[in-house]
Amino acid sequence: MLISDVVGLAAGREPEAPALVFGGATWTFGQVHAEVCQLAHGLREIARAGDRIAVLTENSHEYVLSYYAVPLAGMVLLPLNYRLTPREIADLLTDAAPTVLITEAKYLDTARHAADTVPSVRTVITIDDVAGTTPFREVVEGRPETEPERPDENAAGWLIYTSGTTGRAKGAVLTHRNVVAGALNAALSWPRAVEDRPVSLIPWPLCHIAGYNVLVAHLAAETVVLLRRYSAERFLEAVQHHGVTTTTVAPTMLAMLLRHPALDSCDTSSITRIGYGSAPMPVETLREAMTRFPNAGFRAGFGMTELAGNALAHGPDGHREAAAGRPELLASAGKPMLLSSARIVDDGGAELGPDQVGELEIRGDQVFSEYWKRPEATAEAFREGWFRTGDLARRDAEGRFAIVDRRKDMILTGGENVYSREVEDVLHQHPAVAAAAVVGTPDELWGERVVAVVEPVGDRHPTEDEIREFCADRLAGYKCPRQLLVVDELPRNTAGKVLKREIRERVR
Ligand code: ATP
Ligand code: MG
Repeated sequence: MLISDVVGLAAGREPEAPALVFGGATWTFGQVHAEVCQLAHGLREIARAGDRIAVLTENSHEYVLSYYAVPLAGMVLLPLNYRLTPREIADLLTDAAPTVLITEAKYLDTARHAADTVPSVRTVITIDDVAGTTPFREVVEGRPETEPERPDENAAGWLIYTSGTTGRAKGAVLTHRNVVAGALNAALSWPRAVEDRPVSLIPWPLCHIAGYNVLVAHLAAETVVLLRRYSAERFLEAVQHHGVTTTTVAPTMLAMLLRHPALDSCDTSSITRIGYGSAPMPVETLREAMTRFPNAGFRAGFGMTELAGNALAHGPDGHREAAAGRPELLASAGKPMLLSSARIVDDGGAELGPDQVGELEIRGDQVFSEYWKRPEATAEAFREGWFRTGDLARRDAEGRFAIVDRRKDMILTGGENVYSREVEDVLHQHPAVAAAAVVGTPDELWGERVVAVVEPVGDRHPTEDEIREFCADRLAGYKCPRQLLVVDELPRNTAGKVLKREIRERVR
């Protein structure tokens, strides 16, 4: 199955059903599939099989077409994060060497600068017809509405860079097979009834792997409502207007929603499913969200760019079990999804039993084929056919996994392991803490020392004594922060993830 078959199959079954709602317009599955085929034909006139086709735009109808059409043309979609600096974008373009760059007026300066410094880029296409570029519609119009020759399903379809949280972003090469497996996995693991005509709100930038939720929805022939970019206001407006039933969010998006004054007056009762993931979810935020969206089943998903989506998730019941008196389940990321296998191993690669912390490894069709032009990183990422996630996790006796920490974020102090996330969870419960990051800093006596960096709630700055006392009641002594720093804002990357490597440098 090819990536474009996701929309092709739905178009065959329900050509008149609405596939995409964006910026006040609606496209049916029939229309989307026809345009996807046209764009694929048009691309084959200006680029060759295997070429990378970069996209530097905010979410748009054209982005969705490119998602499907670039791989159908036998080329590789390279989504670029529009929030990166021109320099960062030029670096990624130099690494991936695309021949075509699809962009829009807003990002044209960045695109031109990059195109000037990256000799591989031969064609600049704009979706809003900027003079001196190739208009997007010219590549589409007049081309056949039938499929071109089909590429191999083991060919690369998407090249997506990781979020760059722990170091330089790496390009993950995803084949058709990987992407389809990732999307099927999610669709199978949380099935929805087609006759209910679910409406799926996608608040993610499509440059992030979470954009695959578009495919998850389209597999079930459901309607995608796409935001140009996320804001709590636009999210709530879309829910009201389109009767959204399903959505997936990052923990920061959910926190922003809960803080937004319009939430009280907004009717969100249509939402019955909320998936969340991409970063640790503070349990406090989740609890609040469960009371603010009482009709919704909440469900965690653990995923990575390299996994073309999620590999662990809760079952259809979401957090109902947790609500039914098992609050410890709120911190779990669920079980391996239908097409994923998961195991936990020690440093030597030996499998660990229940409740032991080790590295999470994943196997399945969704696992990426390689890091772009980084054979050493690729070799290090695999062990006996299993992909090493770099995340520490534990499995309970019932087979549920909990993500404990990133391997690189674990702190070793006085011979004891301290998981930064466990300490952060406690700090998040403190009324004066809006967000917290816990890092280790070198210490002559202890090896590393636990340091907490917090964003305060308004002007209410917590004191070091207060935090120490609060933690002492809830954590073993060696886990308690020895030092507290209060900052206006934690450094985050464009995916909204806290950059601990920067915090560590600053603390030093
Ligand atoms: P880089 O690999 O460049 O450092 P990144 O790992 O943040 O960046 P992504 O592929 O976007 O790039 O994110 C995957 C990571 O996000 C996982 O390895 C994990 O650490 C974190 N993550 C994803 N889902 C969850 C979750 N449900 N709970 C906790 N952490 C999660
Ligand atoms: Mg990573």
